[in-house]
Amino acid sequence: MINFTVGPVQSSEAVLAIGAEQVPYFRTAEFSQIMLESEALIKKFAYATEDSKVVYITGSGSAGMEAAIMNTLSPKDKAIVINGGSFGHRFVELCELHEIPFSEVKLSAGKTLKAEHLTEFEDKGYTTFIVNKHETSTGVHYDMNLISDFCKRNNLFLIVDCISTFLADPFNMSELGADIMITGSQKALACPPGISIMVLSPKAIKRIEETKCKCQYLDLKIALKNAERGQTPWTPAVGILCQIHTRLQEIQANGGVEAEINRTAGLAKYFRENIKNLPFEIISESLSNAVTPLHPTTASANDIFLKIKDEYGMWICPNGGEMKDSVFRVGHIGALTTADYDKLIDAFKDLQAKGVI
Ligand SMILES: *Cc1c(COP(=O)(O)O)cnc(C)c1O
Repeated sequence: MINFTVGPVQSSEAVLAIGAEQVPYFRTAEFSQIMLESEALIKKFAYATEDSKVVYITGSGSAGMEAAIMNTLSPKDKAIVINGGSFGHRFVELCELHEIPFSEVKLSAGKTLKAEHLTEFEDKGYTTFIVNKHETSTGVHYDMNLISDFCKRNNLFLIVDCISTFLADPFNMSELGADIMITGSQKALACPPGISIMVLSPKAIKRIEETKCKCQYLDLKIALKNAERGQTPWTPAVGILCQIHTRLQEIQANGGVEAEINRTAGLAKYFRENIKNLPFEIISESLSNAVTPLHPTTASANDIFLKIKDEYGMWICPNGGEMKDSVFRVGHIGALTTADYDKLIDAFKDLQAKGVI
């Protein structure tokens, strides 16, 4: 199978080799060293300030999203949530569940955030801004400069879900003034699922210290205390943390975060240029390098997903809910090459020749 989804994605040979090894014992100086080296590389790749901290949660990306809300916000806050699809909707549900007052900016599928959407929220006593930088469900990549300017002007605490965009698109945490950056192990980090990573600004750390978290497992006060010595409070997904360490070092050795972003951008461009004659429309107003969201104009998206999986041995990414038949996505993250895309495009052309699409 070739995997063109948005997670889990294909891992490099070096990452796969670690998966075949015994999982090491972790309350050791050697494992702490691995964790601290990873922290330094994550901060570097996110352009975080020196006094930022990294915590690792064993759980998928959503655990990081919930930890952010539970550890830094309270009913005294007033948040703006950008809801452009299923991941934005998850933040809406989290604010409801944890009783954080909020207003949402609801965007229809494929539409991006514009300055005009934010004008009504200027100077209205909001404290916090919550956004998925890349709304992966519809492949819409928001303008972080617009968001950052708004947050700076209104002195807002800025929580950014970068789960599918970290390492795929540029992100400069310190320039943007972002306070929390969340990512996950199975997207552009291209490791197995199971670890959520959070980068915390000094402002976020202060909020964590002042906020009572009503969940012991996700309490970031405890995580931060343990992180000082390169450890986690509870047994983490040790093997995945070893894989993340190797993957980060691999990116560093191959030219760093810019080189990795360029590599992904190159794959996205190659794919997009070579599907121009196929009956697909790109549905997003502003694309990330991580994924191309497509509306097939002549057939059901889900049927295409099933045929590509069952008849050609490749996974593209289906959409759920209302978009099940109208949208599928093709990912550009993970260990993929242009030769892999040639195989996928040939499969689409074959479906076209057979009159299926
Ligand atoms: C993948 C993803 C998540 C997290 O999903 P999990 O299944 O919990 O890992 C959250 N937000 C975005 C934007 C994502 O792409």
